[in-house]
Amino acid sequence: MTSERLLIVSNRLPVTATLVDGRVEMRPSSGGLATGLTPWHESSNGLWIGWPGDAHDADPTERAALDEELNARRIVPLHFDVEAVQRHYHGFANRVLWPLCHYLIDRVPVDATGWEAYRQANAAFAEVVAYHYRPGDTIWVHDYQLMLLPAMLRDRLPGARIGFFLHVPFPSSEVFRILPWRHELLVGLLGADLLGFHTFAYLRHFVASLLHVDGIETEIDRVRLKDHEVRLGVFPMGIDAPRFSALAREPDVIADVAAIRQDAGGRRIVLGVDRLDYTKGIPRRLHAIETLLAAEPALRDQLRYIQVAVPSRGEVDSYRRFRTQVEESVGRINGQFGTLRSTPVHYVHQSVSERQLVALYGAADVMLVTPLRDGMNLVSKEYVASQTGDEGVLVLSEFAGAAAELDGAVVVNPYDVEAVAGAIRRALAMPEGERRSRMQRLRKRVVEHDVHAWAAAFLTALDEARPPASGRAARRPPPSLTAALDAALALPRLRVLLDYDGTLVPFARSPGLAGPDEDLLTLLRDLAARPGIEIDIVSGRPRDTMEVWLGELPVALWAEHGYWWRPRGSESWKAAAHLDPTWMARLTPILEQFSRTTPGSFVEAKTASVAWHYRRASRDFGARQAHELRMLLGDALSNQPFEVLEGKKVVEVRLRGVSKAAVGRHVSEPTETPTAVVAFGDDRTDEDLFRALPASAVTVAVGHSRSQATHGVADHLAVRAALRYLLDSGSPEQ
Ligand code: UDP
Repeated sequence: MTSERLLIVSNRLPVTATLVDGRVEMRPSSGGLATGLTPWHESSNGLWIGWPGDAHDADPTERAALDEELNARRIVPLHFDVEAVQRHYHGFANRVLWPLCHYLIDRVPVDATGWEAYRQANAAFAEVVAYHYRPGDTIWVHDYQLMLLPAMLRDRLPGARIGFFLHVPFPSSEVFRILPWRHELLVGLLGADLLGFHTFAYLRHFVASLLHVDGIETEIDRVRLKDHEVRLGVFPMGIDAPRFSALAREPDVIADVAAIRQDAGGRRIVLGVDRLDYTKGIPRRLHAIETLLAAEPALRDQLRYIQVAVPSRGEVDSYRRFRTQVEESVGRINGQFGTLRSTPVHYVHQSVSERQLVALYGAADVMLVTPLRDGMNLVSKEYVASQTGDEGVLVLSEFAGAAAELDGAVVVNPYDVEAVAGAIRRALAMPEGERRSRMQRLRKRVVEHDVHAWAAAFLTALDEARPPASGRAARRPPPSLTAALDAALALPRLRVLLDYDGTLVPFARSPGLAGPDEDLLTLLRDLAARPGIEIDIVSGRPRDTMEVWLGELPVALWAEHGYWWRPRGSESWKAAAHLDPTWMARLTPILEQFSRTTPGSFVEAKTASVAWHYRRASRDFGARQAHELRMLLGDALSNQPFEVLEGKKVVEVRLRGVSKAAVGRHVSEPTETPTAVVAFGDDRTDEDLFRALPASAVTVAVGHSRSQATHGVADHLAVRAALRYLLDSGSPEQ
């Protein structure tokens, strides 16, 4: 028995419990999440935490029996009262988030309510998960009902490994930012170590939302936050393909396929299987059938369209109205095109068993999967896995996540009714050779990327994002750096030069938000107190900020790239050069002009320099304006005692000769005591410093930019790990 367990957290559980005559009856829940994660649940010896469905009719004895039955399967039920379910699940999750994530903004009610219930339901989940959590456990949270949970868990369990997977589309930032609670939802998600999406497009939309809503910059696959890093990944969910293929080969399923075909009397079978949900595109699909039958009278008695509409969310008004609309369309088409011998549309509003489903898949010549939007769409993959004869054709909406993967489908725009009708015509007429080769390509993909591979890929990425306790050594500095630090510690005196932004703390949206956290202050204080070690913090920031944030530490401070110096133990600052104030006054208006024409940018005036920051401006426009500003300044400043510097999202003009290089030279002056120098920095101004240091210095570049430093580390956390290593002075953690 391993102590590291997987805690799966999802709104619905893998089993649905109902009370029949006072007895608990359990049925496996349908859907990919349940089938895909059940093996992991069983093998990890972990827990599955979720809502067991409406059990509010149960009396206390019945509920105790239900809980006991679930607990025996390592399932932890969370009961909500009817009203909470109405507001949180049917209300906010299904009335607001669901239509919005599927781009159906008109379906979001004008009086969108339920936010508070949604927050409370997430808090209730957090409570239960935290109660059951043991150190070493992995927590995997699922879907749009629980978007606040990762941050709530991070608050309670700072060291926990938390993954989140979104099963619905993450919409374009232009749509996402409609939500009044957009900021809270993003913050909620950023509590995770790993966020998974079905497609790269969803990931891109999430990244754009972070930037537009909260000004948070992202790297290719991660977001660096003050206290942790969030990895982003694309994991297209698969199905239990072996199970579907095996079922399709069972004799009684094969017999059912033959019976369905016989019943169709030689007509071609076209199939649709969907939850009766307005995202699935059923009305337009029916309209496409109608268009086709109107245009091709010969098809009227040669085609049978079977539509399985699985009952769904009958508690929500708009779903009830939607059902009426669909059923009216079916009636109209059958009235118009039916004959005494046949009706073209066979419509069933009920669930079918898995066997019946696979038999339908096996019998269908053409499968129509035409959602207006769908996170993934598992039905399309189930059809492919069940088509063991490789004969059918899949018509697939370009707005289903599956379209990004399923090369071999006939891809259509579900809003274009004529195009869907054309795709059905084309599928019905497709020659056997083409059908087979398409289906073989599809089957290969579906079989190779099944749900087990999906879960394994996500959990492996989560382990990498926050290594298990046994793998924590990864947080130690790389061996080449520890060797260099050991050598530096061997000398009687060690001078540690530290840049601030991007080196000791991550970049913040606004410079004022990048203050030091308690951990950092303690680390610096402890290190500075160590005999033989002296710390210099060398920043481009103004004096007063450095004094407020770092003034209490027993370290030397250098502000404005070395223009100002406050030696260790002193309370006053010394200026490094004489400054002519008139030139500065002529320069500032140019930068202010740029800040007026570039929304989100601003000017920061210091003593020896003035900077134009554009980290909050639109990414492309900001970069273009920065380029223009540099050109302009280049002309204006030739023959002047100023120079233009480029930092990260900042153009700065400063007094020539004031640079971190001067700090480097000062530090390198010969001393009586043999002194080692170790310097950390992340941007171009730090390169000046590195260049000015003696060849023996250990220089460490932070991040991925090109550098002439002797060593490199990934981020501010790795810098802190190196400082901690120095503090532990050669007695590294085991
Ligand atoms: N399904 C079901 N009952 C049925 C017919 C189908 O539970 O009567 C299953 C189907 O096998 C599939 C799931 O419902 O696994 C639907 O998943 P999909 O991703 O296509 O759409 P969702 O319903 O999740 O939006």
